[in-house]
Amino acid sequence: MSCKQFLKRTQIKNLKSIFPPEDLLLTPEQKLIFGTDSSRMLDMPWAVVRPKSPEQVRDFLYFAQKERIPVFPRARATNMVGACVPRGGGIVLSLLKLNRILDLDEQDFVAVVEPGVITYELQKALAAKGLFYPPDPASVRISTIGGNVSTNAGGMRALKYGVTRDYVLGLEVVLPGGKLLNLGSRCHKNVVGLDLTRLFIGSEGTLGVFTRIYLKVLPKPPFTASFLVGFSDLDQALDTVQQIFQAGILPTALEIMPDLVLKCIEDIAPVPWPKGTNAVLLIKLDGHEQGVKQNLVELEKICAQASVRLKGLGKEEEELWELRRLINPASFKLRPTKMSEDITVPRGKIKEAMERIKQVGQKYGLPILTFGHIGDGNIHTNIMYDVGDDQEAANAQKAKKEILRIVLGLGGTLSGEHGIGLTKAPFISWQVEPEVLMAMRQIKKVFDPYNIMNPGKGY
Ligand SMILES: Cc1cc2nc3c(=O)[nH]c(=O)nc-3n(C[C@H](O)[C@H](O)[C@H](O)COP(=O)(O)OP(=O)(O)OC[C@H]3O[C@@H](n4cnc5c(N)ncnc54)[C@H](O)[C@@H]3O)c2cc1C
Repeated sequence: MSCKQFLKRTQIKNLKSIFPPEDLLLTPEQKLIFGTDSSRMLDMPWAVVRPKSPEQVRDFLYFAQKERIPVFPRARATNMVGACVPRGGGIVLSLLKLNRILDLDEQDFVAVVEPGVITYELQKALAAKGLFYPPDPASVRISTIGGNVSTNAGGMRALKYGVTRDYVLGLEVVLPGGKLLNLGSRCHKNVVGLDLTRLFIGSEGTLGVFTRIYLKVLPKPPFTASFLVGFSDLDQALDTVQQIFQAGILPTALEIMPDLVLKCIEDIAPVPWPKGTNAVLLIKLDGHEQGVKQNLVELEKICAQASVRLKGLGKEEEELWELRRLINPASFKLRPTKMSEDITVPRGKIKEAMERIKQVGQKYGLPILTFGHIGDGNIHTNIMYDVGDDQEAANAQKAKKEILRIVLGLGGTLSGEHGIGLTKAPFISWQVEPEVLMAMRQIKKVFDPYNIMNPGKGY
């Protein structure tokens, strides 16, 4: 496939006037990898551009709007929903070369970064100054701040600290046409006018392109500890979650691994829980040493009936969390393909949601793993199937739809953190009323009148 089929000579000439040859990719070999993301969907872009400065982003978006060329912003492409796949064709705008940490201010408790900074690199740089940026998607080492803001990424620490949205103070945004907006400020409080910063957070590249991000940071908690606790049944584990909150303990993270997940892990690694354990809670605490240790004593008391109780301090803490990280590789023992959903239900409905999802698996003869952020109702749901088996693949699709209906019936949401992108776009009207969808589309028109920004994504 040649770019010349899609871009006119004059357009390529224009692109060459903005980008040097190494930052303008035109051959199929160069472009291929930019056509996909973690959803594994693929569409070949017409070209890929890699700006090194906000000025280049501005010049490019001026050109793209004038020529009505679709633009697909892209960072590390770890999103699972096809959010940066160039569906329908257009130019991929890779933000990875805008990757400078501009300021880490210990007085203001503010970090100023370009969007292509890897989130873990920022966390490390902050930790060296005794500062802390809490959002921690499991992809923290491979995803960027820009991608995280654009998807409003969550993570395990969301229970105590909230999600990316809670840390974005301001944004520099370039709109299609090249206009620059400075939204918010570096103040921790600001209620002047409409909160357009929040509107851009989670917008999946559909409104404009972030070129600079102002983040709130916190003092780094001086001490952390973890606690693994096993139960003979799921109900006991879920009741224990309630008791933890009732005792006034707000863990940093609170994760659940039910029976099928435990069996998968047991198949690939030595595990610390005894036979007959059918649910495990993994709990993380942070704060001052004395307070954390006091909480551990209380947790021991709350979990007195458990089949296993393990404290993790220092190095041992990471060993406990390594078990959680094994879920992904272990799940492929069940089937070669995974359909990964990140539904969320009100916390009081978690038990019912997990039971009913299990029944859907039984109905279609498919293993469905449910696990994850039990503390905030965000249950990762992996439907395992064999993509080479037509019957199983069709059943997986049916199971997914049934699960989404169940979740919405319980007052839940289609996505707690992965977003809508392409894969969930057909279902958004199941959750969002027509009037609200219409309002979203009208808002998009204000910023992107010709619908060139990541068209077809989200809403
Ligand atoms: C192993 C694994 C674990 C994961 N765990 C989690 C998790 O715990 N929590 C969670 O929330 N997600 C998780 N994810 C999903 C994913 O990592 C997040 O959605 C992440 O925020 C995407 O970041 P990215 O840099 O890869 O962005 P990309 O995937 O490249 O882009 C994501 C979206 O952002 C847009 N975008 C990117 N940069 C900009 C910019 N500068 N301006 C405007 N729009 C932009 C793109 O157009 C796209 O719509 C996980 C993914 C994987 C593969």
